[in-house]
Amino acid sequence: MQPHGGPAPKISLPNIKYVVAVASGKGGVGKSTVAANLALALARSGAKVGLMDADIYGPSVPIMFGVPCPIDQQTTPLPLERYGIKLMSMGFVVPPERAVIWRGPMVDRALRQFLTELPWGTLDYLIMDLPPGTGDAQLTLSQHAPLTGAVIVTTPQDVSLVDARKGLAMFSEVRVPILGIVENMSYFVGDDGKRYEIFRHGGGKKLAGLAGVPFLGDIPIDPRVAECGDGGEPMVARYPDSPVSKAYAALVNTVREQLEAIGGAELPEVQM
Ligand code: ADP
Repeated sequence: MQPHGGPAPKISLPNIKYVVAVASGKGGVGKSTVAANLALALARSGAKVGLMDADIYGPSVPIMFGVPCPIDQQTTPLPLERYGIKLMSMGFVVPPERAVIWRGPMVDRALRQFLTELPWGTLDYLIMDLPPGTGDAQLTLSQHAPLTGAVIVTTPQDVSLVDARKGLAMFSEVRVPILGIVENMSYFVGDDGKRYEIFRHGGGKKLAGLAGVPFLGDIPIDPRVAECGDGGEPMVARYPDSPVSKAYAALVNTVREQLEAIGGAELPEVQM
């Protein structure tokens, strides 16, 4: 912990090339699902990948990856490895009912320990699933974790776009570059292979345009995503050839392009 409540220094992770936060203005838009499947798609592209579930109040990684919790750290070394990626979740060690009373500084301390004391090895990408929203905990995490950039997840509905704007503003405040916006549950691909726009599609792209940040791509809605999430084997691992998994493969490219484009430099401020 930092002495006398002064600003804590940023965590240094010299063996990790890119630390990417996946964030959303509110819960339920598929942030954790996108974080997990993006991590898997990056690993499928040949990269060394870690996934850190920092969503302390509602950790999803244990269920999405079928890890019974809490785990016994004496017998199970952390981070765990599943489907070729390294995993850490607050849920592995802290039951959510205990975590709900945690405040920003405690979350920050736990996160610091997970990032600096666990043997992550050398990674190309560490994907960090942030808690939803733009409160204290999120702000602390965004300030102290050495984030290369943030991916904002939204859905086509207007209401979540309003929340996504808050997310954009928060990262702008702590000067974390926005890599771009992903629109999840964007459209439906029928058995005929055709694309059906069941919601008012295109909101994510519109928001990206308004905010002057890149639009990274859209992910279709598919009931198997939820089944896979509940069943402990995420969609990209279970159905690698599905339209959803292909959308994640495309997302890998746009995210990588943005990371390479910023190359550690600061992006211009978000126009909000
Ligand atoms: P968040 O992290 O934003 O709270 P989750 O990742 O937990 O959201 O997703 C919320 C629910 O939506 C979960 O049941 C998840 O399986 C489901 N879901 C997410 N993305 C999709 C999708 N593209 N198609 C169908 N269901 C999805």
